Amino acid sequence: MLIHGSCHCRNITFTLRWDPEPAEIPARACTCSFCSKHGGVWTSNPRGSLRVRIEDPRLGSEYEFGTKTAKFHVCNRCGIVPVVTSMIDGHLYAVVSVNAFEGVDPALVRRSPATFEGESQDTRLARRVRNWIADVEFATGAP
Ligand SMILES: [Zn+2]
Repeated sequence: MLIHGSCHCRNITFTLRWDPEPAEIPARACTCSFCSKHGGVWTSNPRGSLRVRIEDPRLGSEYEFGTKTAKFHVCNRCGIVPVVTSMIDGHLYAVVSVNAFEGVDPALVRRSPATFEGESQDTRLARRVRNWIADVEFATGAP
């Protein structure tokens, strides 16, 4: 399955290849202080591959807080956060927002709350290595 997503103004777009076709897409409604404020709900498939394009990188910013091990890719023009990345031991991992999906049947997305507060940094990074998308590429400019 090819999942397309984008911010509202389409400056940041992504394509997530998810094979085999998922019976359902598990989505984590993160309860961290930032995701509570903007309603972040994330999914990842460790065997998926993700291509992200930021058409005008001047309109994108990377927000970090807390342990600063994750970058929230925010569109400055429309305020949406379609992608989060984490660089671990020189390798880039990512999750994507199910709220940024386009053309995906909402019934396929199984949302549940997830709290990662209180996790040690080692545990957190090991969890990302296990669960986050490990094949991630970014490109800039018009497609
Ligand atoms: Zn935008």
